[in-house]
Amino acid sequence: MKTVILSFDYEVFGRVPGNVQSSVIEPTDRILKLFSHYNKKGTFFIDLLYFVAFPDKAVNDQIKRIFYSGHEIGVHIHPHWINGEVSIFKSDIKKCFEIWYTMKDKIIPDCCPVSYRGGALMVQPFSELKPYFEQYGLIIDSSVAKGLYINSSVQHIDFRNAPSKSIYAFTDDPLTESNGTLLEIPITTYKQNIIENLGSEKNTIPKFGDGIGFGFNDIHGDKSWMQRKKIILRNFLSSYRMYTLENVIPEFSWLKLKLDPRKNICFISHPKSMDENSLYYLGYLLKNHTVTTIKNYAGTRL
Ligand SMILES: [Zn+2]
Repeated sequence: MKTVILSFDYEVFGRVPGNVQSSVIEPTDRILKLFSHYNKKGTFFIDLLYFVAFPDKAVNDQIKRIFYSGHEIGVHIHPHWINGEVSIFKSDIKKCFEIWYTMKDKIIPDCCPVSYRGGALMVQPFSELKPYFEQYGLIIDSSVAKGLYINSSVQHIDFRNAPSKSIYAFTDDPLTESNGTLLEIPITTYKQNIIENLGSEKNTIPKFGDGIGFGFNDIHGDKSWMQRKKIILRNFLSSYRMYTLENVIPEFSWLKLKLDPRKNICFISHPKSMDENSLYYLGYLLKNHTVTTIKNYAGTRL
């Protein structure tokens, strides 16, 4: 039996947001139902910025339900929702935090989040975020995913040198362990080799959400033909994958989890990108493993 953190990024799609009811509300309701059946708790990183422009009573009610039924709420910010453009971290991050907390105070004033996950996992350079961690009392980051490296016009992450640990303290750089007061709980990754890449079947079950996320062309469209081919080849030959409930074939996924020698695994999933298989796998994890939240996991390790 493993200790499993089940974290969910609660948000619409990046490129075409999609219908809030089918992309957010319905899948999240089904997730919550499963958690409640097994009496376990998850961590929901909520992106509130989109809902400033498109307020939705069902979303507010659901966020209340998530919080008051004991799940952890974390801060999740995609700054591009401020102006609706595909520019990520250089927009006004201070304003993003102000808006996020104003919204949060309206919906769930009693909630004091301690965990953060960057939109598109962007936490580098951390010096841009650290002042807001201090100002808002955030002490845990969960954006790092060892091995991932993307350098594009909209996403800059370089987690190649991340420690191979399920939790560690840091001060100024979430990739450098120190005896600082902040904690990193990385999303667990595994290396998918070429054989697995060739053999991995594409899941044909439809996703719950009906929006469209950013694709390869949005991310790498500014690169030359040669550079794009290189990225595709690099991704194919050896790539790190995050543990997730999305696009899974449950029989393979629980075998993979079983064969993984690590005891603690942190999953990242998006309700919008899940499907019936994801819920089946979620039920298996809730039934057979110790499930905890980011905050509680940090608490037991301190
Ligand atoms: Zn997100």
